Amino acid sequence: MLNKKDRIFNNLYGLKGNGLKTAFALGDWSEAKDIIVKGKDWILKQVKDSGLRGRGGAGFPSGLKWSFMPPKSEYKPNYLIVNADESEPGTCKDREIIRNEPFKLLEGILYASVAMDVHTAYIYIRGEFYNEYLNLQRAIDECYSNKLLGRNILKSGHDLDIYVHRGAGAYICGEESALIESLEGKKGQPRLKPPFPANVGLYGCPTTVSNVETIAVVPAILKRGASWFAGLGNENNTGTKLFCISGHVNNPCTVEEEMGVDLKELIEKHCGGVLGGWKNLKAVVPGGSSTPLVPASLCDNLAMDFDSLKAVKSGLGTAAVIVMDKTTDLIEAITRFSRFYNHESCGQCTPCREGTGWILKIMRKLCKGAADFEDIDKLEDICSQVENHTICALGDAAAWPVQALIRHYRKDIEKRISVSNLKRPAE
Ligand code: SF4
Repeated sequence: MLNKKDRIFNNLYGLKGNGLKTAFALGDWSEAKDIIVKGKDWILKQVKDSGLRGRGGAGFPSGLKWSFMPPKSEYKPNYLIVNADESEPGTCKDREIIRNEPFKLLEGILYASVAMDVHTAYIYIRGEFYNEYLNLQRAIDECYSNKLLGRNILKSGHDLDIYVHRGAGAYICGEESALIESLEGKKGQPRLKPPFPANVGLYGCPTTVSNVETIAVVPAILKRGASWFAGLGNENNTGTKLFCISGHVNNPCTVEEEMGVDLKELIEKHCGGVLGGWKNLKAVVPGGSSTPLVPASLCDNLAMDFDSLKAVKSGLGTAAVIVMDKTTDLIEAITRFSRFYNHESCGQCTPCREGTGWILKIMRKLCKGAADFEDIDKLEDICSQVENHTICALGDAAAWPVQALIRHYRKDIEKRISVSNLKRPAE
């Protein structure tokens, strides 16, 4: 359980007020000039030593990612883009930061900009987050009027401008290269890689795309020290994490906890438990809809971090925990996911464009009780041809939930087919 003193987000629900004055009172922007003056190499080292891994889903080490950016060039600017698209179903953490702790994010952008020689940063925010967008813009304006953004920030010699760009609600624009395309005013479709954005990103210039939460925890790391952050959580899975828990729990919420917190403890302490008690748990989707579900039999003593969830063939993803109790029809639930990914496929590559449609078709057959036993193998075969065969991870996201359903609940699916076969008139 995370100690109160180790919490980074002390105003996540906005109960302590808003505005820059409140942020100052909570310690935001303290030591800002000192940190800027310590410079690029010091900031990079701290972020690397902290063990921070990206909070947007992939879990790539942030310091390493930032170090891929080339040094400042007189021919091309470096850009930082903050990914505030937050479109993974079940996820609602970045919006709380933008609503109630936007100054932490802006302060983090400032330090990241020093570390990567950036003087222009963009925040790409999901279009539907209209009130959050207004709030963010208000916070940016307040920073400009207090000389925390703009030219010669706090007389440090560092310049930084931040622009907010609203997306139009496409899931795929949460993928970094599709986001860059969209920001350039084009259709949001993922790019083939390489080249990676750190070499050829926004407008052909070196670019790093980072998640809101990743950037917002950086000020705490720089002020409290890399070893403090690295001392929380487990090896290779350090720090604190915002978990958003939804579904069949008594009190769905977004909460900050130590990385590696026990799943049962997370649900019981913060959400008032599973509806009907822990024994009524059927499965959880631990990290947003793209992560494979984990059946209740594997949920005891399950540490919520990148490596522990990988060990049970799932993933931490965005830490959006979707809890399903025994009333859940898992086939129906996963069919909803399949429908989502089929709808959100950008259609650029054949395995995803065609495969997500085939997956959905068979899943719907299963729901209706119109499937045959061989449809299960067909479904597995299609998933394996989609997984790892596409330009971006949407293909994997479409395949993984279905593969996990078959892996853990094949007998239940077969039972449903047997029952529906009995009901179907003989041909
Ligand atoms: Fe588009 Fe799907 Fe290919 Fe990604 S995997 S590029 S969403 S078609």
